[in-house]
Amino acid sequence: MSKTYNIAVLKGDGIGPEVTEAAVNVLQAVQDTSDLRLNFLYGEAGFHCIEHYGTNLPEETVALLKRTDACLKGPMTTPETPGAPVSAAVKIRKMFNLYANVRPCRTYPNVEALKPDTDLVVVRENTEGMYSGIEYEVAPGEAVALRIITKKASLLVAEHAFKLAEKRRKHLTYVHKANILRVTDGIFNDAVKEAAKNHPDVTVDDIHIDAAAMHLIKKPETFDVIVTTNLFGDVISDEAAQVTGSLGLAAGANIGDTYGMFEPVHGSAPKYTGMNRVNPTATIMAAQMMLDYLGEKTAATKIENAVMQVLSEGKVRTQDIGGSSTTSEMSEAIASKVKAL
Ligand code: NAD
Repeated sequence: MSKTYNIAVLKGDGIGPEVTEAAVNVLQAVQDTSDLRLNFLYGEAGFHCIEHYGTNLPEETVALLKRTDACLKGPMTTPETPGAPVSAAVKIRKMFNLYANVRPCRTYPNVEALKPDTDLVVVRENTEGMYSGIEYEVAPGEAVALRIITKKASLLVAEHAFKLAEKRRKHLTYVHKANILRVTDGIFNDAVKEAAKNHPDVTVDDIHIDAAAMHLIKKPETFDVIVTTNLFGDVISDEAAQVTGSLGLAAGANIGDTYGMFEPVHGSAPKYTGMNRVNPTATIMAAQMMLDYLGEKTAATKIENAVMQVLSEGKVRTQDIGGSSTTSEMSEAIASKVKAL
């Protein structure tokens, strides 16, 4: 029986519109070859909205998101001046309590990687930590930022990571800096140990963030699922993406109990705007994760297989992975494979 989903599409800034359209093109190919129906609802969000709406996440967009089953989000430029609107992605994550940011990093065929055979997932707490956005100047030239860690949010993300580890190689590593951040990482670590009791088949170990950053380069193949707090997870997932090839390949899911938002790990790369040269695979793989989240496993596997085949053949490759193909050529090659599978 055919199923219809309402999908919010936020194209974002910089290269966002190009990579988002490339992913929608592949989703159209899935629709053309199955009875799955996706109703794309386009919304405005990002830096380009601020001048017109006074915010990067207009009310109309919030209302639109609430009417949808999931969101495909392009990267957005985040202003860095104090007092500027908080990142739209951070707002959406908090609004829908999307507590788990799931970022798979693995090597791909024909893509040069620092180490072959890497296949790991970083699960990052997504709603608090150093990204709480609470910082203020206590005196001229002296400021504090609050790193909020709660047992509730830590348990939610730990539970999500354990469930993922159970479906994979049953190995979970929690990354922290409890030798320095004793209270906050103490709460996080206790939550992971508590969640571990529900998953006795998963092997658990832990490592300090500085050592984890080193091991990700030296022996990334030793990791399966990594769970960590917000800032540590953001940094090491970018690092892991580069270890496995390119930021242009890394996708991320933001998952809560009732909603999911899917996006590339990379940002809006403003210098490449409109050049039709960046890699759309990260956003295409974000769309793949979205279908998986919606329970459309066959369609999700189709996209994954199409990406793998295009990369294996090596005929169509964007510049970041050693080729000269354009964003739209890469998208079209993957869409054609989807139709052929
Ligand atoms: P970035 O990820 O946008 O770009 C860094 C570099 O990575 C680029 O110069 C490019 O060489 C490479 N790259 C990124 N995406 C690529 C792709 N699809 N294909 C090939 N190469 C690619 O990081 P940045 O320059 O630090 O950030 C730019 C803006 O994006 C900032 O405003 C930042 O706040 C924002 N940002 C947004 C998100 C998000 O919306 N989730 C995430 C990260 C950064």
